[in-house]
Amino acid sequence: MDQGNQLFTLALGLIPPWAVDEVQFTAEEKRLDLHVNFPRGSQFPCRVCDQDCPVYDTQEKVWRHLDFFQHAAYLHARVPRVQCPEHWVHLVPVPWAREGSGFTLLFEALVMAIVREMPVLTVARLIRETDQRLWRVIEHYVARAREAAVLSEVHAIGVDETSSRRGHDYISLFVDLEAKRLVFATPGKDAKTFEQFAKDLQAHGGSADTITELSMDLSPAFQKGAAEHPPNAQITFDRFHLMKLINEAVDAVRKGEVYSQPDLKKSRWLWLKNPGKLSAKQNAKLQELLKLQNLKTAQAYQFRLTFQEIFTIQNRHHGAVLLKAWIENAKASGLPPLVKVAYTLINHWDGVLRWFESQITNGILEGFNSLLQSAKAKARGYRTHKNFINMAYLILGKLDLRLPT
Ligand SMILES: [Zn+2]
Repeated sequence: MDQGNQLFTLALGLIPPWAVDEVQFTAEEKRLDLHVNFPRGSQFPCRVCDQDCPVYDTQEKVWRHLDFFQHAAYLHARVPRVQCPEHWVHLVPVPWAREGSGFTLLFEALVMAIVREMPVLTVARLIRETDQRLWRVIEHYVARAREAAVLSEVHAIGVDETSSRRGHDYISLFVDLEAKRLVFATPGKDAKTFEQFAKDLQAHGGSADTITELSMDLSPAFQKGAAEHPPNAQITFDRFHLMKLINEAVDAVRKGEVYSQPDLKKSRWLWLKNPGKLSAKQNAKLQELLKLQNLKTAQAYQFRLTFQEIFTIQNRHHGAVLLKAWIENAKASGLPPLVKVAYTLINHWDGVLRWFESQITNGILEGFNSLLQSAKAKARGYRTHKNFINMAYLILGKLDLRLPT
């Protein structure tokens, strides 16, 4: 064998009967074409029974391979079809590429490694391919890894929606709170998403029956979905979402008071941020405002701080007593936005109280959401839900992609 050909045969990791038998190097086009061949008379195993069979005929194919020093490299081969006495004539698999792909396995491994870090369209431009071709590679590996994923050990789930495109277009995310990974994503944010999640669990060796804890917001659609699937789960209403309700109430009180107290103008964040997160200047301004007599906003703010304090207690009985007192005080406060929150808490009492036992929140989902949204922004959006969901699994699914190395 020619020494150059032998070198490329080794570099490609080819094993007999496959070997490089011709190398074409086109400097002007910055292109390298490697021709892979097998000796006349070689036999290949039947893909069904593994028995060595004679070659029936061949088909010319070409695959894009990793660049060699800025030269786009292509692998060419006549792929044999074998004739098995039992399983008739069929194409044999080649060791360097999966069936139907125009890329070698190593090229695909490189693609999968960089699309986690870089928008797909950017990668496509960089390697001079269309993004559609890359999305097909991503879809293949994500689908294969998800097929193999076992979800029988999932017990605690957090659910939330994330916006997938502009306006009111959502994807619901189901996250394993213990393993801290995305286990299911689906378009929409209605009750049906829970049914789809239950089906998907079943398809992966799990069961909706084994889900015992569920963390989510107060969305009526989610509550309706969760009431049916999973049947045994106890719902914890996420305390960050509860805090959001209270913050909105505090701000509503402030807005109602700003006409009679112009000092409250531009003070929105002073009341909503945690005291420890305020700058010295902001804190000084807040202390100034708190000195004003009979300020309703200050009263609402006090309710906010107390609520937050209650949600650090890790005892159900103790928490329930304090929360009931909070609700009674809020109802008697004469501040309509807080009265409204008090009734919301009463109407969702079991799920609100559940936190004192389960201690679960959607904290992980908040982080996941921001990772997804930043990837989406860098990519300037995803053309389809499917692309968005595949990227979500890739970034947050802790999938075993089993890539060739
Ligand atoms: Zn056979």
